[in-house]
Amino acid sequence: MIDRRAAGAILTIDLDALASNWRRLADRLAPSGTECAGVVKADGYGLGVAPVARTLHAAGCRTFFVAQISEGIALRAALAERPAAVFVLCGLLPGTADLFAAHRLAPALSTPEQIAEWRGLSAELRAALPAPALHLDTGMRRLGLTAAEAESLLADPTALADIAPATVMTHLACADEPEHPLNAEQYDLFARLHAALPGVRGSWANSSGVFLDGAAAFEQARPGVALYGVNPTPHLPNPMAPVVRLEAPILQVRRIDAAESVGYGASHVMAAGSRVATVGVGYADGFSRALSNRGYGVLAGTRVPIVGRVSMDLTTLDVTRVPASEARPGAMIQLIGPDMPIDEVAAHAGTIAYELLTQLGRRYHRVYVGGPEGAAA
Ligand SMILES: *Cc1c(COP(=O)(O)O)cnc(C)c1O
Repeated sequence: MIDRRAAGAILTIDLDALASNWRRLADRLAPSGTECAGVVKADGYGLGVAPVARTLHAAGCRTFFVAQISEGIALRAALAERPAAVFVLCGLLPGTADLFAAHRLAPALSTPEQIAEWRGLSAELRAALPAPALHLDTGMRRLGLTAAEAESLLADPTALADIAPATVMTHLACADEPEHPLNAEQYDLFARLHAALPGVRGSWANSSGVFLDGAAAFEQARPGVALYGVNPTPHLPNPMAPVVRLEAPILQVRRIDAAESVGYGASHVMAAGSRVATVGVGYADGFSRALSNRGYGVLAGTRVPIVGRVSMDLTTLDVTRVPASEARPGAMIQLIGPDMPIDEVAAHAGTIAYELLTQLGRRYHRVYVGGPEGAAA
C-alpha cells in the first residue's frame, strides 16, 4: 500500500457502489430466477480481487469467474472459507488438475482436448474437483466447443455422464449492440444446445447481455465490467454507479506569457496569458498516452482540457478558465470519476473502459471506501 504523501495520485474505489451495482443487476435478473454471478478476472478488473470478491460475496454473489488458474488461487485465498463456486475460463490445461483440486476450482472445459484431459483423470482427482462447466462457442470463434463438437458430445451419453457438467456457458460477441443479428443467432444456438442438457445451468449473458431479453431464459448471467461502474448500455444513460475515482494534486501552475508550446514534441501551443497545470500522473500509471491533446480533467467543477503529450509521469492541463485562486498547487484535478466518466475517458483515448480499468497503475495511493467489514484488509 503506497502512502498518500508518497503517491502522485489517489485512486478511490467505492465498494458500496460495487455492491449496489451487483444488487442492481441481481434485482433485474431476479424475476426470471436467473442467478447473478460475478466476473473478477484480471485482479477484479484492476481494482483488487480481494476487496472486490469479499464485497460481492457479502452482497450475495456465490459464483465467480476468473480467466486464469493463478487468479482462481488468489480468489480462493481472498474468499477464505466463504462458500462459493469458482470457475476458471482458460479451462483444464494439461497437467494442471492438481491445482484445480487443491484450490477447489472448476474448469470451463472449452475444447475436445480439455474434455479428454478431464476424462483421463484418475478417479481420485476427479472426485476432488468441483463439477466443471462446458464452454460452447456460439459465435465468438475464440474459445469453446463448436456447435458440431457440442452435438457429437450430446450424442454420447457416456461422455456426458463422465463430465457431469454443472453449467453450460457461452459468451456473446455483440451484446452491447442490442440490434446486432449475432445476438439472436447466439441465443438460438445456445437455447437449442442447452435444451439438450436438462438440469444443467445455462449461463449466457455478460454485463450488456443482462440488458437483452434473452438473459431471462437462462439460469445464470456472468456480468463483469458493469459491476465496476462501466455503462453496459452504451446507447442509453449509464444505469450503474461509478466505482472508481482518480484524482491528482496539481504540482505546478505555469503562466504562459507569449504563445509557447507545452510538453514533448511541442505538440500544443498555448496562447499568451493562459495557464498550464501539471499533475503527477502519466502513461506509466496507465493514463494512456493516447490522451495527449485529448480529453479533460475536472478542476473546481470546470472541465480543463489535457494539453500537450501525456508523458511517463506527468500530464499537463489548460486551467486558464479556472480562477488562479483555485488553480494552484495542491488543488485536486479529477481525471476519472463521477464528473469525468470512465467511458468518456476511454472514448477520448480511443479505447474501452475495460482497458483503462485493467491498466490502472500501481503507483497510486489506493483508498477503499465502504464495503463489508474487512473487505479491504
Ligand atoms: C470477461 C468475460 C465476461 C464478463 O464480460 P463483461 O463484458 O465484462 O460483463 C463473461 N464471460 C466471459 C467468458 C468473459 O471472458
